[in-house]
Amino acid sequence: MRDQIVAGNWKMNNDQHETQTLLTELKNHNKPENVRVMVAPAFTQLSQSVSLLADDAITVAAQNMNAAASGAYTGEVSSSMLKGVGVKTVILGHSERRSLYHENNASLADKVNSALEAEMEIIFCFGEQLEERKSNRHFDVVKAQLSEALFSLPTSAWSQIVLAYEPVWAIGTGETASPAQAQEMHAFIRKLIQDQYNETLAQEVAILYGGSVKPGNAQEIFSMEDVDGGLIGGASLNANDFMAIVNAF
Ligand code: PEP
Repeated sequence: MRDQIVAGNWKMNNDQHETQTLLTELKNHNKPENVRVMVAPAFTQLSQSVSLLADDAITVAAQNMNAAASGAYTGEVSSSMLKGVGVKTVILGHSERRSLYHENNASLADKVNSALEAEMEIIFCFGEQLEERKSNRHFDVVKAQLSEALFSLPTSAWSQIVLAYEPVWAIGTGETASPAQAQEMHAFIRKLIQDQYNETLAQEVAILYGGSVKPGNAQEIFSMEDVDGGLIGGASLNANDFMAIVNAF
């Protein structure tokens, strides 16, 4: 049985006061025992969030990290800094990091290796652009993203990896991949892992869907055989919406 996971990517939202308010609201909701729930606040709110959630099942992830252990990287944060404030999971490869900060499959492979060395869990994001889907290249793009960043890893590394398929055209746009489109891609991804590694591993890796998941569409998407949960942007900023998604399995 694979993990079922719902992770909220807060992006550059929520100051100290707003973080306290949202986390307090989230703590007041009942959580299903069979779903892992995570939130990813901004770097400045990580320590506060870990403390506030110390007595709750929700765990805290970071939205990014640098591949280097330390050094002259102005504005950057390392894995040991994250672990030092109690964060054990990091989101890598989000489409906004790829498009706005020029992250690519090679630089992400370095970040993945660094996070693995630090024994962190990784939520690895990838997905095609709208033109790539329209020109029917979405399977090739996803295959290249996974092959170049992840498929040199040993089988043992995969116990620390969660995949998040996020078609770029569905992120923050209100446009969602249909449940059938999500299932088709997730099944394709599982087959890639089976071909590269083995069937057991392919069946064990959790694959999340991300892209305009809301309370109204989560249940249908999560009911797909190869969809193991969601990475949620906009809807994770509202406690009722986020918890409705968490409870949509
Ligand atoms: C995201 O940023 O990972 C995301 C899925 O955003 P949204 O849910 O707002 O589309």
